Amino acid sequence: MQKINLLGFTLEQLKFEFLKNGLSILDAKRVFPWIHTKLAASFSVMTDIPLEIRKILEHAYSLARPRCLTLQKSRDGTSKALLEMVDGNLIETVLIPEERRTTVCVSTQIGCAMGCKFCHTGTQSFVRNLTSSEMISQIFFWKAERAVTNVVFMGMGEPLLNFENLSSVLELLLDEKAHNFSRNKITVSTSGITDDTIKSLAKFGVKLAISLHAPTDEKRSFLMPINKKYNIKMLLETARTYPQNSNTDCVTFEYLLLKDVNDADSDALALACLLKSVPCKVNLIAFNNWPGTKFASSTEGRRNEFVRIASNGIRVTARKSKGGDILAACGQLKGASNLL
Ligand code: SAH
Ligand code: SF4
Repeated sequence: MQKINLLGFTLEQLKFEFLKNGLSILDAKRVFPWIHTKLAASFSVMTDIPLEIRKILEHAYSLARPRCLTLQKSRDGTSKALLEMVDGNLIETVLIPEERRTTVCVSTQIGCAMGCKFCHTGTQSFVRNLTSSEMISQIFFWKAERAVTNVVFMGMGEPLLNFENLSSVLELLLDEKAHNFSRNKITVSTSGITDDTIKSLAKFGVKLAISLHAPTDEKRSFLMPINKKYNIKMLLETARTYPQNSNTDCVTFEYLLLKDVNDADSDALALACLLKSVPCKVNLIAFNNWPGTKFASSTEGRRNEFVRIASNGIRVTARKSKGGDILAACGQLKGASNLL
């Protein structure tokens, strides 16, 4: 019998699971903080839980975390870990320490089905969703290194296509008896899956980033095939409704500057026109190179000119890329899968 991993269980899920197994609600209430605030790696350390209960726990459940195969540190302090899941699949997770915050970038899937042309993960076909245990383990992993202040779901995969497990993880992160993050320290980035899932996400009150990357449907569909299903108009509608539904500030549109693809003056102008009546911020991100890509990063001069033109009417910031020298930045993550 394979033991059930409890790391990703919310308190309610834990109570339910324990009751099913002849354990009590009180047992769940006792075990939960051991897992999430004391980061216990085994049941044997849970000294306030009777020995016979611990034996049952050890028999049926596990607190195993993915094994770290490699840990790389970038010159700018960013670290990337390659983690091995119990089935042998590999994922990457990143820690970005800055002066005033330390951010963990969480992967949500093994591979990604969206196939965005500029994305390294997108070149790997979709294998499976990560479980909530596998996602929260990434936070556990970095918490052992240093205090984490922010969490972004911007690693491998499309978070909104793994929503049930994502929900459990968000609940654990926000739960004051667990990881106790405030909701404005958590950001979910989506390629724009603007169906009812977004409404469910809004209930958590976390920040939303939408990967836009082009000012017209034609260009966006070329770069991101998902645009044929959820087009720019639907993204703008989401940008209008999400802040009210989630009680958050405006959404952030991510715009990746790709040399000679979407970085012309006319693109900047089109972007400003598109977004001028939409409450939002635009984050311009530099393209992170990966082996085999046909895309290239825009020059600094081009980027400055783009910012100048696009800023006419919208709020634009150019985000610095981190961890480039270890392939740790957004869109560069690619865990080799032994199942492919
Ligand atoms: N699947 C989600 C979240 C993960 S990707 C999404 O697409 O939003 C996180 C961010 O990295 C997205 O904005 C994505 O478009 C961007 N990205 C992908 N490939 C990139 C690359 N090569 N360089 C820079 N950013 C990239
Ligand atoms: Fe998937 Fe996001 Fe990469 Fe697109 S950018 S392939 S949605 S991980």
